[in-house]
Amino acid sequence: MKIVVVGGVAGGMSFAARARRLAEDAEIVVLERDPYVSYANCGLPYHLGGEIGDRDALLLHTPQSLAESLALDVRTGHEVLAIDPAGRTVAVRERATGRDYHEAYDVLVLSTGAAPVIPPIPGAGLPAVRVLRTVPDVDVLRELVDGGARRAVIVGAGFIGLESAEALRHRGLAVTLVELAGQVMPALDPEMARSIELELRRAGVEVRLGTSVTALREAGRGTVTASLPDGSQVPADLVLLAAGVRPETSLAAAAGLALGTRGALLVDGHLRTSVPSIYGVGDAIEVADAVTGGPALVPLAGPASRQGRAAADHLFGRGGRRSPVLGTAIVRVFGTVAAATGPGEKALCAAGIPHHAVHLHPNNHAGYYPGARPLHLKLLFAPDGRVLGAQATGGDGVDKRIDVIATAIRAGLTVDDLAGLELAYSPPFGSAKDPVNLAGMVASNLLTGDLALWRGSDLLHPGPQEVLLDVRSAAEFRSGHLPGAHNIPHTELRQRLGEIPRGRPLLVYCASGFRSYLALRLLRQSGWPDVRSLSGGLSTLQLELPGLALDQGEPVAELTGTGR
Ligand code: FAD
Repeated sequence: MKIVVVGGVAGGMSFAARARRLAEDAEIVVLERDPYVSYANCGLPYHLGGEIGDRDALLLHTPQSLAESLALDVRTGHEVLAIDPAGRTVAVRERATGRDYHEAYDVLVLSTGAAPVIPPIPGAGLPAVRVLRTVPDVDVLRELVDGGARRAVIVGAGFIGLESAEALRHRGLAVTLVELAGQVMPALDPEMARSIELELRRAGVEVRLGTSVTALREAGRGTVTASLPDGSQVPADLVLLAAGVRPETSLAAAAGLALGTRGALLVDGHLRTSVPSIYGVGDAIEVADAVTGGPALVPLAGPASRQGRAAADHLFGRGGRRSPVLGTAIVRVFGTVAAATGPGEKALCAAGIPHHAVHLHPNNHAGYYPGARPLHLKLLFAPDGRVLGAQATGGDGVDKRIDVIATAIRAGLTVDDLAGLELAYSPPFGSAKDPVNLAGMVASNLLTGDLALWRGSDLLHPGPQEVLLDVRSAAEFRSGHLPGAHNIPHTELRQRLGEIPRGRPLLVYCASGFRSYLALRLLRQSGWPDVRSLSGGLSTLQLELPGLALDQGEPVAELTGTGR
């Protein structure tokens, strides 16, 4: 059997390597238009920032090493120009010589990846305006920085924009990050993305949200000026366009293969395109969202690699089905890590999927062990308890919690299962009740009715007669509290129940949601049926409502008859 693979990086090489391990006698040709194969594109931002100093470390293989270890015929600098599905040939151009030739195949694998979206900005073609997708891209960016670039504008605050902002700050550049959405990391829910925005600002990145670059103008000596709609003119020695990617499917489209969402390649459960002798894997294909069941584009390395292997398995009779995709992803932005798995609240609302959300802020490991740091965790789950998604920010341990929850979602576990998971624990690594267990417990309490929650939207749209009750200490209250709130520290609540009006809904809050939960349980069992606890406490509320102004001053002595 002769197999031709188009695209020699994540998905394509994963396919080729697995195919060789299953079929020693197959002829396997890999055609890659760029000068490198099997390189670490995920490492490019870290090379830009200097953390990966050795450029060669990114180049995991060469055509020679792949010929020696896997007997693959890897041709770099060979671009596929067209596919003839009926004749089972591809038209190829050797870039260095301009030689055109045809390569026949029995099976074709398309792993052509994705292309950066170039927003229609006048001046986007100027030499200082770049993208980051390949090794040659990072070479050019490094040349600009090594050549004295001091100011950068980055368009787009997704994963690549954020990693590049960090990299360029590490190299000493002044960085302005411009994002069309009203938040960084549009894939996250806004309150979860806010920690990343704050971290960017702490690190000196100028973050411009809800706006766009409308024009780029040459400003002499290779520099450009970026215009924003409010009239600001941001000077830059380099502009990085990181406005997302689109599936690279022009070859497939010209060959008449069926396309789906935003031009992505349609594949069946075995990763076959509409022409069964042609497989499609990686960023170029449309995947099935594991939770919503809907079509999705998930341009990430993990799915691409697994699809490459699954397609080879199917070709050689080993089952080989594509896995539904959760979009589990992680990014480090200076000292903060953000990770997510499954759909967020925005996506669940858009898909019309009923869900609940809880927020909590447990320490990443035992609080008494030095270096503990809060982990901001949001868990999304269905009314029947099935775990649907999670998002987390913090430092060490964000990855572990999101990965555990990703596994739980794949296994169809419920929030009760999360509460009961047995996870590795010693003080430097976690707590006897791990944040994942705690998330399961809070969610279980919500489903059983032992807990009821309120959120920022309730503050913006207060119900009649609601009483805001702050159960933090008097000192915490004095340092900043919600306007109109009353203060009874949770430790004094049993003695001061007489101060709380009966028959009115109580919105209780504290810093993180734990003390207000204790207060809720006490109040519920003492004759107040309508008590709700602020989800994630003020920590979450201040992320949800960034402009929220807190009052300062002494608690009012008399509570009865007051309220909002
Ligand atoms: P690619 O790896 O992009 O490979 C496609 C290849 O096909 C390209 O080399 C292209 O030149 C070639 N090709 C296209 N058309 C033709 C043609 N006509 N003829 C010949 N060759 C062709 N993902 C993560 O999960 N985690 C990360 O941290 C992460 N970081 C990233 C950082 C950067 C800077 C970038 C650019 C991507 C990152 N990704 C990350 C995404 C990840 O790299 C991709 O999802 C993954 O590489 C997709 O694999 P693929 O095989 O579909 O496409």
